[in-house]
Amino acid sequence: MVLSKLGPIETKPLKITEIDKHQIKRSNEILIKIEACGVCHSQLHGIEGDWKDLGIPPTLPTVPGHEIAGKVVEVGNDVTKFKVGDRAGISPLLESCMKCQYCLEGKENLCDSMDVLGESLKGGYSEYVTVTEEFATKLPHDMKPEYAAPLFCAGVTAYKAVKASEPKKNKKIGIFGIGGVGHMAIQFAKIENCKVIAISRKQKHLDVAKKLGASVTITFDQDQEKFLKDLKNKVGFLDAAIVFAPADIVTDTAIKSVKKGGLVVIGTIGKIPNFIAFEEKTIRGTLIGSRKDMEEVIRLAEEHNLSVVTEKYPLEQANEVLEKLKNSQIEGRAVLIP
Ligand SMILES: [Zn+2]
Ligand SMILES: [Zn+2]
Repeated sequence: MVLSKLGPIETKPLKITEIDKHQIKRSNEILIKIEACGVCHSQLHGIEGDWKDLGIPPTLPTVPGHEIAGKVVEVGNDVTKFKVGDRAGISPLLESCMKCQYCLEGKENLCDSMDVLGESLKGGYSEYVTVTEEFATKLPHDMKPEYAAPLFCAGVTAYKAVKASEPKKNKKIGIFGIGGVGHMAIQFAKIENCKVIAISRKQKHLDVAKKLGASVTITFDQDQEKFLKDLKNKVGFLDAAIVFAPADIVTDTAIKSVKKGGLVVIGTIGKIPNFIAFEEKTIRGTLIGSRKDMEEVIRLAEEHNLSVVTEKYPLEQANEVLEKLKNSQIEGRAVLIP
């Protein structure tokens, strides 16, 4: 499903197009037959042109999609980590320079010259993709593709954001926005024995949150005073907040929901409206995760049998699925199957 021109998703900008099958060009590459690709909110922003000013997508045409699970069907001569028949996944981090300060410190997700999956003709809304073995993560043989794929963006984003919130036992962590990412963040925070407070506009998302172990759920209210009063009555102010809902009002409310000295982790793009230095709060950004984080996510998912709420659709319905996502009609993560 190729994007050649940006436009509202209702105009079906993604078209079924035949592109050349990617070939192994370097001896450390593997060729993956894609079994599933998750549908992330950022594709919607990219396709509709919301992030044009941020340089996303950097070129056209592109094949969107940046959370892939698949099967290795061919390996380059120097590949040692994978053999044909193994299963593998790729996160948005398709490749980085491996030489800069960030790459050397294991923060390759911050590399200035990183390549992003789904921002060229290499993307997940497709049948095949090549990647160097270093940037593919091994998957257990019996992990279902529709379960594994969302771990590669939603999962690692959730994991890294929870890590950034400095979780510890009984820490009160509020998670603002319970969709594809938020529902996994609840589970990562529970692994650390935190007290999770789930916040969403939608009752059905709060029901999912409750099922996944949130201690308290609170309906988000545009009326900030009303919301803060409700929060105070139910649990008091938070030790930390994690924001996944892409709305500045939510970020502002999250900052006001944490105690003095508290921590706010922003896992979305937006403005920081009000920040009062006297309260000694910390605001921290987070962006996907490193290769090591990715491995950790797969390990935790298997060990703790994490739930990934997914809905499967055929790849050629990508436009319709993104439209559903736009209208908040997807409960967890939609996954496209080629
Ligand atoms: Zn994503
Ligand atoms: Zn680098």
